[in-house]
Amino acid sequence: LGSDRAAEVRALIRDVPGYPHDPIVFRDITPLLADGEALRDVVEAFARLCEGSSDGATGHPVDVVAGMEARGFLLGAPLATRLGVGFVPLRKAGKLPPPVERVSYDLEYGSAAIELRTGTLPAGARVLLVDDVLATGGTAAAAAELVERCGGQVVAAAFLLELGGLGGRERLTGRVVETLLRVD
Ligand code: AMP
Repeated sequence: LGSDRAAEVRALIRDVPGYPHDPIVFRDITPLLADGEALRDVVEAFARLCEGSSDGATGHPVDVVAGMEARGFLLGAPLATRLGVGFVPLRKAGKLPPPVERVSYDLEYGSAAIELRTGTLPAGARVLLVDDVLATGGTAAAAAELVERCGGQVVAAAFLLELGGLGGRERLTGRVVETLLRVD
């Protein structure tokens, strides 16, 4: 996204202080999803990360897009269609029929787990992880571990919006992290 367009797209993400509880500022992407041009531009910007661009940026070629439940599905599936590759859902625990691989991770309060059906990924598949928001990076780190445990190769993790200052990038040290927008 160019800087003017980035500001317009950013304005379509609604900040909701105190939701679901203090001190979280929830970043609601539904106005962006409802705007056809913004959704198309975001998907195109993700596609350029994979394909490279005419201004010389090198891309990260991928065989599969893997989206984190649930908003990673909404951005990852149209991206996969645009790239002509498959889409794999990384689901919250208990949603997929067996057999599944599971990775658990810690949240601020409690823990969570994500699952991927065994055998979904071709061996050695180059995988792009996609989600809407990078916060602490815990979800993405677990997703990367899950994909690797299932035989995939994580080429990059791509996010619409990076929340700076929460340590997400540090949590993903050693991995390629791409974000279209950032707030501090
Ligand atoms: P984290 O594991 O802390 O990086 O959190 C990332 C996951 O939680 C993503 O799937 C986001 O959709 C969601 N998330 C975390 N913080 C927020 C926020 N402030 N607004 C919206 N979604 C969030």
